[in-house]
Amino acid sequence: MSSSSSHGIRSSRSEIDDGLCLCGDPLVLKTSWTHRNPGRRFFSCPNYGTSHECKKFKWMDVQLPNQYYKDLLFNLHLQCRGIDQLEDSKTEIVKLQEELNSTKSKNLVYKRMFMFLIVVIVVLCIV
Ligand SMILES: [Zn+2]
Repeated sequence: MSSSSSHGIRSSRSEIDDGLCLCGDPLVLKTSWTHRNPGRRFFSCPNYGTSHECKKFKWMDVQLPNQYYKDLLFNLHLQCRGIDQLEDSKTEIVKLQEELNSTKSKNLVYKRMFMFLIVVIVVLCIV
């Protein structure tokens, strides 16, 4: 029984070494950012999330030694993600400001054209 399980481990390791999944596609290396396994890399099926996934999964990194380091890394990741989102928001604000300025200048042109037309109509009515 133990020999069959060790064979199982060996065979899954060689599949990882081959870099191929059970479905024949190359395995992908991802990083977990769950609270339980923050920053821990793993190999998984590239078809994860699709109907063809074969649920192949293998940790690449060992687990962090204790909850202290997990909390630390998890919280640092959350902070970094917050900073990234802030940067994305800043970029979005700059884009929207440029769009607003462009719309404002177009609006000014239309306003002037409208006033000019009113003046022309009034002049034509008088003459
Ligand atoms: Zn697969």
